[in-house]
Amino acid sequence: MLFALVACGCVSSPPPITPRAKDLEARLPALAERLAELRGERLKVLPQVERWTRGEFRRYLLTRWEREWPADQAALEGRVLVTLGLWAAGLDYRAETLALTVADTNAAYLEDRDTIVVLMADPVPDRTLVHELVHALQQQRWGSLATPQTFAGLYDQTAAVEGEAVAAEALFAGDVAKLRALPETRPFPAKGQPAWHWLSVDAILAGASAAASEERPGERSLPPSDPRPEAGCVLGPARAGDQIMGKRGVAWWVALWAPGFPTILRGDSSEGWINDRLRVSGDWLEWKIECTGEQQAKGLAAYLAGKRPGLDVSSEGRVFKLRLPLK
Ligand SMILES: [Zn+2]
Repeated sequence: MLFALVACGCVSSPPPITPRAKDLEARLPALAERLAELRGERLKVLPQVERWTRGEFRRYLLTRWEREWPADQAALEGRVLVTLGLWAAGLDYRAETLALTVADTNAAYLEDRDTIVVLMADPVPDRTLVHELVHALQQQRWGSLATPQTFAGLYDQTAAVEGEAVAAEALFAGDVAKLRALPETRPFPAKGQPAWHWLSVDAILAGASAAASEERPGERSLPPSDPRPEAGCVLGPARAGDQIMGKRGVAWWVALWAPGFPTILRGDSSEGWINDRLRVSGDWLEWKIECTGEQQAKGLAAYLAGKRPGLDVSSEGRVFKLRLPLK
Protein backbone atom coordinates (compact mmCIF):
# COMPACT_ATOMS: atom_id res chain seq x y z
CA MET A 1 0.00 0.00 0.00
CA LEU A 2 1.30 3.37 -0.92
CA PHE A 3 -0.01 6.18 1.11
CA ALA A 4 -0.25 8.31 -1.99
CA LEU A 5 -3.74 9.67 -1.61
CA VAL A 6 -2.50 12.19 0.85
CA ALA A 7 1.24 11.80 0.76
CA CYS A 8 3.25 14.86 1.67
CA GLY A 9 6.72 14.83 3.14
CA CYS A 10 6.40 18.04 5.07
CA VAL A 11 3.83 17.13 7.69
CA SER A 12 4.99 16.47 11.19
CA SER A 13 2.62 14.06 12.85
CA PRO A 14 2.27 13.34 16.55
CA PRO A 15 4.88 10.96 17.96
CA PRO A 16 4.04 7.27 17.61
CA ILE A 17 2.08 5.83 20.45
CA THR A 18 3.07 2.25 19.78
CA PRO A 19 6.51 0.74 20.36
CA ARG A 20 8.68 -0.19 17.43
CA ALA A 21 8.22 -3.72 16.14
CA LYS A 22 11.76 -4.92 16.67
CA ASP A 23 10.98 -8.44 15.46
CA LEU A 24 9.83 -7.08 12.09
CA GLU A 25 12.68 -4.59 11.88
CA ALA A 26 15.13 -7.45 12.38
CA ARG A 27 13.88 -9.02 9.14
CA LEU A 28 14.41 -5.89 7.02
CA PRO A 29 18.18 -6.05 6.32
CA ALA A 30 17.99 -9.40 4.53
CA LEU A 31 14.85 -8.38 2.63
CA ALA A 32 16.40 -5.07 1.60
CA GLU A 33 19.47 -6.93 0.38
CA ARG A 34 17.32 -9.18 -1.79
CA LEU A 35 15.40 -6.18 -3.08
CA ALA A 36 18.67 -4.48 -4.02
CA GLU A 37 19.63 -7.58 -6.01
CA LEU A 38 16.29 -7.63 -7.77
CA ARG A 39 15.99 -3.93 -8.43
CA GLY A 40 19.60 -2.84 -8.70
CA GLU A 41 19.00 -0.02 -6.27
CA ARG A 42 19.94 0.07 -2.62
CA LEU A 43 18.17 1.58 0.37
CA LYS A 44 20.65 3.70 2.30
CA VAL A 45 18.60 3.83 5.49
CA LEU A 46 16.07 1.22 6.54
CA PRO A 47 12.73 2.51 7.80
CA GLN A 48 11.48 1.62 11.23
CA VAL A 49 8.45 -0.60 11.69
CA GLU A 50 5.50 -0.24 14.04
CA ARG A 51 2.33 -2.24 14.61
CA TRP A 52 -0.75 -0.04 14.54
CA THR A 53 -4.41 -0.72 15.05
CA ARG A 54 -6.81 0.26 12.28
CA GLY A 55 -8.21 2.87 14.62
CA GLU A 56 -4.78 4.48 14.96
CA PHE A 57 -4.31 4.42 11.20
CA ARG A 58 -7.72 6.00 10.71
CA ARG A 59 -6.91 8.83 13.14
CA TYR A 60 -3.57 9.39 11.43
CA LEU A 61 -5.26 9.67 8.01
CA LEU A 62 -7.89 12.07 9.30
CA THR A 63 -5.26 14.33 10.84
CA ARG A 64 -3.35 14.54 7.57
CA TRP A 65 -6.45 14.93 5.42
CA GLU A 66 -7.61 17.91 7.43
CA ARG A 67 -4.60 19.75 6.05
CA GLU A 68 -3.97 18.02 2.76
CA TRP A 69 -7.36 16.91 1.48
CA PRO A 70 -9.98 19.05 3.22
CA ALA A 71 -13.64 18.11 3.08
CA ASP A 72 -14.73 20.90 0.71
CA GLN A 73 -12.09 20.00 -1.85
CA ALA A 74 -12.99 16.33 -1.62
CA ALA A 75 -16.68 17.18 -2.01
CA LEU A 76 -16.05 19.10 -5.25
CA GLU A 77 -13.92 16.27 -6.58
CA GLY A 78 -16.72 13.88 -5.69
CA ARG A 79 -19.22 15.99 -7.67
CA VAL A 80 -16.93 15.95 -10.71
CA LEU A 81 -16.67 12.16 -10.52
CA VAL A 82 -20.44 11.76 -10.06
CA THR A 83 -21.03 14.01 -13.10
CA LEU A 84 -18.72 11.83 -15.16
CA GLY A 85 -20.36 8.65 -13.88
CA LEU A 86 -17.16 7.54 -12.15
CA TRP A 87 -18.56 7.75 -8.62
CA ALA A 88 -21.99 6.91 -7.22
CA ALA A 89 -24.26 9.82 -6.32
CA GLY A 90 -25.10 9.98 -2.63
CA LEU A 91 -21.92 8.19 -1.60
CA ASP A 92 -19.61 10.46 0.39
CA TYR A 93 -16.36 10.44 -1.57
CA ARG A 94 -14.05 11.32 1.31
CA ALA A 95 -15.75 9.17 3.93
CA GLU A 96 -15.87 6.14 1.63
CA THR A 97 -12.27 6.63 0.57
CA LEU A 98 -11.27 6.73 4.22
CA ALA A 99 -13.27 3.62 5.07
CA LEU A 100 -11.89 1.69 2.09
CA THR A 101 -8.32 2.78 2.76
CA VAL A 102 -8.51 1.73 6.40
CA ALA A 103 -10.24 -1.56 5.60
CA ASP A 104 -8.00 -2.55 2.66
CA THR A 105 -4.61 -1.68 4.08
CA ASN A 106 -2.44 -4.42 5.54
CA ALA A 107 0.67 -2.30 5.79
CA ALA A 108 1.71 1.16 4.66
CA TYR A 109 4.88 3.14 4.30
CA LEU A 110 4.43 6.59 5.85
CA GLU A 111 6.97 8.87 4.29
CA ASP A 112 6.58 11.64 6.85
CA ARG A 113 7.78 9.22 9.54
CA ASP A 114 9.99 6.99 7.39
CA THR A 115 8.03 4.21 9.03
CA ILE A 116 6.29 1.07 7.87
CA VAL A 117 3.11 0.61 9.84
CA VAL A 118 1.70 -2.90 9.93
CA LEU A 119 -2.03 -3.30 10.54
CA MET A 120 -2.41 -6.99 9.76
CA ALA A 121 -2.17 -9.81 12.28
CA ASP A 122 0.93 -11.97 12.50
CA PRO A 123 2.48 -13.68 10.69
CA VAL A 124 3.48 -10.80 8.43
CA PRO A 125 4.70 -12.22 5.10
CA ASP A 126 8.11 -11.20 3.78
CA ARG A 127 6.55 -9.99 0.52
CA THR A 128 4.43 -7.47 2.42
CA LEU A 129 7.56 -5.96 3.93
CA VAL A 130 9.33 -6.02 0.55
CA HIS A 131 6.42 -4.12 -0.98
CA GLU A 132 6.71 -1.38 1.61
CA LEU A 133 10.49 -1.29 1.26
CA VAL A 134 9.96 -0.41 -2.41
CA HIS A 135 7.96 2.63 -1.34
CA ALA A 136 10.81 3.58 1.00
CA LEU A 137 13.14 3.19 -1.97
CA GLN A 138 10.91 5.43 -4.06
CA GLN A 139 10.98 8.02 -1.30
CA GLN A 140 14.77 7.86 -1.30
CA ARG A 141 14.86 8.07 -5.12
CA TRP A 142 12.54 11.03 -5.50
CA GLY A 143 12.79 12.79 -2.18
CA SER A 144 9.05 12.47 -1.84
CA LEU A 145 6.29 10.20 -2.97
CA ALA A 146 3.58 11.48 -5.24
CA THR A 147 1.09 13.95 -3.91
CA PRO A 148 -1.81 13.70 -6.29
CA GLN A 149 -2.92 17.23 -7.07
CA THR A 150 -5.08 16.03 -9.92
CA PHE A 151 -7.03 12.95 -10.81
CA ALA A 152 -4.13 12.03 -13.09
CA GLY A 153 -1.96 12.05 -10.00
CA LEU A 154 -4.40 9.82 -8.21
CA TYR A 155 -4.88 7.36 -11.07
CA ASP A 156 -1.78 7.41 -13.22
CA GLN A 157 0.98 8.20 -10.77
CA THR A 158 -0.38 5.89 -8.13
CA ALA A 159 -0.67 3.11 -10.69
CA ALA A 160 2.97 3.51 -11.67
CA VAL A 161 4.26 3.77 -8.13
CA GLU A 162 2.11 0.87 -6.93
CA GLY A 163 3.00 -1.05 -10.09
CA GLU A 164 6.66 -0.99 -9.19
CA ALA A 165 5.96 -2.15 -5.62
CA VAL A 166 3.59 -4.91 -6.67
CA ALA A 167 5.99 -6.09 -9.36
CA ALA A 168 8.90 -6.19 -6.91
CA GLU A 169 6.80 -8.01 -4.35
CA ALA A 170 5.66 -10.58 -6.91
CA LEU A 171 9.17 -10.97 -8.26
CA PHE A 172 10.50 -11.54 -4.76
CA ALA A 173 7.85 -14.18 -4.11
CA GLY A 174 8.20 -15.83 -7.53
CA ASP A 175 4.55 -15.05 -8.17
CA VAL A 176 4.61 -15.40 -11.94
CA ALA A 177 0.84 -15.21 -12.34
CA LYS A 178 0.77 -11.87 -10.58
CA LEU A 179 3.63 -10.53 -12.67
CA ARG A 180 1.93 -11.49 -15.90
CA ALA A 181 -1.32 -9.92 -14.76
CA LEU A 182 0.22 -6.51 -14.15
CA PRO A 183 -0.91 -4.18 -16.89
CA GLU A 184 1.42 -1.39 -15.92
CA THR A 185 4.68 -3.17 -15.57
CA ARG A 186 4.57 -6.16 -17.87
CA PRO A 187 7.89 -7.56 -16.76
CA PHE A 188 8.88 -10.46 -18.92
CA PRO A 189 11.49 -13.20 -18.67
CA ALA A 190 14.40 -12.56 -20.96
CA LYS A 191 15.75 -15.44 -22.98
CA GLY A 192 18.58 -17.10 -21.14
CA GLN A 193 18.30 -14.82 -18.14
CA PRO A 194 16.85 -15.89 -14.84
CA ALA A 195 15.92 -12.38 -13.83
CA TRP A 196 12.90 -10.55 -15.05
CA HIS A 197 13.34 -7.39 -16.98
CA TRP A 198 12.42 -4.08 -15.52
CA LEU A 199 12.21 -2.40 -18.88
CA SER A 200 8.57 -1.45 -18.65
CA VAL A 201 8.78 -0.26 -15.06
CA ASP A 202 11.90 1.70 -15.82
CA ALA A 203 10.33 3.24 -18.89
CA ILE A 204 7.34 4.36 -16.86
CA LEU A 205 9.56 5.80 -14.18
CA ALA A 206 12.16 7.31 -16.50
CA GLY A 207 10.31 10.60 -16.61
CA ALA A 208 10.49 10.79 -12.84
CA SER A 209 14.27 10.43 -12.74
CA ALA A 210 14.67 13.02 -15.46
CA ALA A 211 12.32 15.38 -13.68
CA ALA A 212 14.06 14.81 -10.35
CA SER A 213 17.48 15.61 -11.75
CA GLU A 214 16.19 18.89 -13.11
CA GLU A 215 14.90 20.02 -9.74
CA ARG A 216 16.86 21.61 -6.96
CA PRO A 217 17.61 19.49 -3.91
CA GLY A 218 14.75 19.63 -1.46
CA GLU A 219 12.14 20.28 -4.12
CA ARG A 220 9.48 17.70 -4.39
CA SER A 221 9.82 15.41 -7.36
CA LEU A 222 6.72 13.69 -8.56
CA PRO A 223 6.89 10.49 -10.49
CA PRO A 224 4.68 10.96 -13.53
CA SER A 225 3.58 7.66 -14.96
CA ASP A 226 2.89 9.00 -18.40
CA PRO A 227 5.19 10.77 -20.75
CA ARG A 228 4.80 14.44 -20.06
CA PRO A 229 2.66 16.22 -22.63
CA GLU A 230 4.71 17.21 -25.62
CA ALA A 231 5.96 20.76 -25.63
CA GLY A 232 3.89 21.54 -28.70
CA CYS A 233 0.69 19.97 -27.45
CA VAL A 234 -2.46 21.93 -28.17
CA LEU A 235 -3.74 22.22 -24.61
CA GLY A 236 -0.46 23.45 -23.16
CA PRO A 237 0.34 23.63 -19.46
CA ALA A 238 -2.44 23.43 -16.88
CA ARG A 239 -3.76 26.61 -15.26
CA ALA A 240 -4.59 26.95 -11.59
CA GLY A 241 -7.90 25.26 -10.91
CA ASP A 242 -7.60 22.87 -13.83
CA GLN A 243 -7.91 19.20 -13.18
CA ILE A 244 -6.21 16.65 -15.36
CA MET A 245 -7.94 13.30 -15.52
CA GLY A 246 -5.01 11.63 -17.20
CA LYS A 247 -4.80 8.59 -19.35
CA ARG A 248 -6.61 6.24 -17.03
CA GLY A 249 -9.35 8.63 -16.05
CA VAL A 250 -10.08 9.37 -19.70
CA ALA A 251 -9.95 5.70 -20.66
CA TRP A 252 -12.38 4.72 -17.90
CA TRP A 253 -14.78 7.46 -18.89
CA VAL A 254 -14.70 6.56 -22.57
CA ALA A 255 -15.20 2.88 -21.73
CA LEU A 256 -18.27 3.87 -19.70
CA TRP A 257 -19.82 6.44 -22.02
CA ALA A 258 -18.67 5.18 -25.40
CA PRO A 259 -18.24 1.43 -25.01
CA GLY A 260 -18.64 0.85 -28.74
CA PHE A 261 -16.12 3.47 -29.74
CA PRO A 262 -13.88 1.31 -31.82
CA THR A 263 -10.20 1.89 -31.53
CA ILE A 264 -8.78 4.28 -28.99
CA LEU A 265 -9.18 5.51 -25.47
CA ARG A 266 -10.69 2.36 -24.07
CA GLY A 267 -9.80 0.26 -21.08
CA ASP A 268 -6.09 0.21 -20.45
CA SER A 269 -5.32 1.04 -24.04
CA SER A 270 -5.47 4.79 -24.27
CA GLU A 271 -3.00 5.55 -26.99
CA GLY A 272 -5.35 8.21 -28.29
CA TRP A 273 -4.77 10.42 -25.25
CA ILE A 274 -2.18 13.17 -25.31
CA ASN A 275 -3.45 15.58 -22.70
CA ASP A 276 -6.64 16.77 -21.09
CA ARG A 277 -8.05 19.65 -19.06
CA LEU A 278 -11.10 19.62 -16.87
CA ARG A 279 -12.43 22.81 -15.36
CA VAL A 280 -15.43 23.58 -13.18
CA SER A 281 -17.01 26.94 -13.97
CA GLY A 282 -19.97 27.71 -11.77
CA ASP A 283 -22.35 24.80 -12.15
CA TRP A 284 -20.71 23.52 -15.31
CA LEU A 285 -17.98 21.10 -16.00
CA GLU A 286 -15.93 21.64 -19.15
CA TRP A 287 -13.56 18.98 -20.33
CA LYS A 288 -11.14 19.05 -23.23
CA ILE A 289 -9.37 15.89 -24.27
CA GLU A 290 -6.49 16.23 -26.68
CA CYS A 291 -6.31 13.17 -28.90
CA THR A 292 -3.45 12.01 -31.07
CA GLY A 293 -5.31 12.98 -34.22
CA GLU A 294 -8.21 14.95 -35.55
CA GLN A 295 -10.06 11.80 -36.55
CA GLN A 296 -10.10 10.45 -32.99
CA ALA A 297 -11.48 13.69 -31.57
CA LYS A 298 -14.05 14.05 -34.31
CA GLY A 299 -15.01 10.38 -34.15
CA LEU A 300 -15.53 10.43 -30.40
CA ALA A 301 -17.71 13.54 -30.60
CA ALA A 302 -19.78 12.02 -33.41
CA TYR A 303 -20.17 8.72 -31.58
CA LEU A 304 -21.37 10.36 -28.37
CA ALA A 305 -23.67 12.77 -30.20
CA GLY A 306 -25.28 9.77 -31.89
CA LYS A 307 -25.67 7.77 -28.70
CA ARG A 308 -26.69 10.61 -26.40
CA PRO A 309 -28.76 13.21 -28.24
CA GLY A 310 -28.53 16.61 -26.59
CA LEU A 311 -25.12 15.99 -25.08
CA ASP A 312 -22.91 19.06 -25.52
CA VAL A 313 -19.96 17.57 -27.40
CA SER A 314 -17.83 18.94 -30.19
CA SER A 315 -14.33 18.79 -31.59
CA GLU A 316 -11.84 21.28 -32.85
CA GLY A 317 -8.75 19.95 -34.49
CA ARG A 318 -7.56 17.09 -32.33
CA VAL A 319 -9.32 18.40 -29.21
CA PHE A 320 -12.57 16.76 -28.12
CA LYS A 321 -14.79 18.99 -25.97
CA LEU A 322 -17.52 18.13 -23.50
CA ARG A 323 -19.72 20.35 -21.38
CA LEU A 324 -21.93 18.93 -18.65
CA PRO A 325 -24.01 20.43 -15.82
CA LEU A 326 -22.26 19.64 -12.56
CA LYS A 327 -24.22 17.27 -10.39
ZN1 LIG B 1 1.96 -0.02 -2.12
